[in-house]
Order: sequence, then C-alpha cells, then structure tokens
Amino acid sequence: MAKCSAKTKTGRPCQRKVVTGTSRCPIHQGPWSAYGVAQRKEKEAKEKKRKIRKKR
Ligand SMILES: [Zn+2]
Repeated sequence: MAKCSAKTKTGRPCQRKVVTGTSRCPIHQGPWSAYGVAQRKEKEAKEKKRKIRKKR
C-alpha cells in the first residue's frame, strides 16, 4: 500500500496510507476530501447549536 508522503508540519513525509484512487491520505487531500467535508460539517453543526443556544 502506498504512503501519502506529503510534508507534515514537522517536515517529515506523511506516513499515512493513501486513499484508494488518490495519491494522498485523507488529511492531505485538501478541504474537499471526504475527510475534510465531514470535519467541516461537524464544525458547522456545532456552530449551529451554539447559535440556537444564544437565541434562547
Ligand atoms: Zn498525508
């Protein structure tokens, strides 16, 4: 199985396994990868809850 090997914050190549059909791991595919979208949705859901709480 190929490794992502994108540069991480520490300067070392990423050791995560790539997602099948791509050349990057879920984290390094960018904001529009399934992983990125899922995280954004979670964040938005949290913010929505917060707004509702603020209202009342
Ligand atoms: Zn990676």
